[in-house]
Amino acid sequence: AKADGRGTYRFFETGMDARAQARRLLEMDLRAALQRDEFEAYYQPIRDVASGRVVAFEALLRWNHPQRGLIAPISFIPVAEETGLIVQLGEFVLRSACADAATWPGDVDVAVNLSPVQFKNPNLIASVTEALTASGLDARRLELEITESVLLQNSEATLTTLHELRAMGVRISLDDFGTGYSSLSYLRSFPFDKIKIDRSFVSELATREDSMAIIRAVTGLGRSLGIVTTAEGVENDAQLELLRREGCTQAQGYLFSKPRPASDVAIMLERPRLR
Ligand code: C2E
Ligand code: CA
Ligand code: CA
Ligand code: CA
Repeated sequence: AKADGRGTYRFFETGMDARAQARRLLEMDLRAALQRDEFEAYYQPIRDVASGRVVAFEALLRWNHPQRGLIAPISFIPVAEETGLIVQLGEFVLRSACADAATWPGDVDVAVNLSPVQFKNPNLIASVTEALTASGLDARRLELEITESVLLQNSEATLTTLHELRAMGVRISLDDFGTGYSSLSYLRSFPFDKIKIDRSFVSELATREDSMAIIRAVTGLGRSLGIVTTAEGVENDAQLELLRREGCTQAQGYLFSKPRPASDVAIMLERPRLR
């Protein structure tokens, strides 16, 4: 099947520019990879800052490419979004994450990233319902992470979908907070359960006073609105200490662990640190 897949590459028109051709190749490769089951959900622990306990894992998609090895999502998610393949990929991640989480201790949740493109698909609610039913996972253990770009598109339909998910018991997190345009108004448009403070603020915590001020403002905002705050990209103890001092609820980052396969979840639950 691999040889057949490669063989079709030569039918490209010679006029097609290199970038478009590379995209077409990647698209075909992605389709084949879905068929061959080459995708895998990796998991990164999220810890409660005060207690140090693992409260959740974020599912992060990886592609086990037979030739190129393990591929990170930045290399294929944009094309998967352009071609609509993200819908199938997203369903795969949802199903995997719910099935895996159903085997974890009951107080450990799972977070799944949703692409804006998935919100244009009328089957999103059905996919989430199916993943929960098939796995038997309690909806209250599932968190869905969205970026504010989701709210930029067709916002009325999107808000309806978000409220429906909420009504099912699923929690909604606002991812990459602080990187977009008018983040504060989004907090008023939907009652998010969690704000994820973007890694860029955390990585500059020790070196830039304005990053410190922003973290302080966001954690304060979370406290007054009753929204959990999670800091992303925590890489060292100094950052963790500053976050603790500011009352940030949760932390996630290489300090605790990189994303790892589902088979490593037990180890990540046992050991506070695993690089
Ligand atoms: P994200 O949702 O903001 O995920 C966090 C990213 O930061 C992950 O990169 C994670 O590996 C990385 N990270 C975590 N801790 C640290 C740290 O301490 N230092 C540094 N330098 N990086 C850290 P990853 O896995 O490469 O994913 C990149 C992005 O791809 C994600 O950003 C998300 O936007 C997207 N993505 C990943 N999986 C999925 C998925 O299943 N569906 C969709 N739609 N998007 C996904
Ligand atoms: Ca995320
Ligand atoms: Ca993020
Ligand atoms: Ca991000």
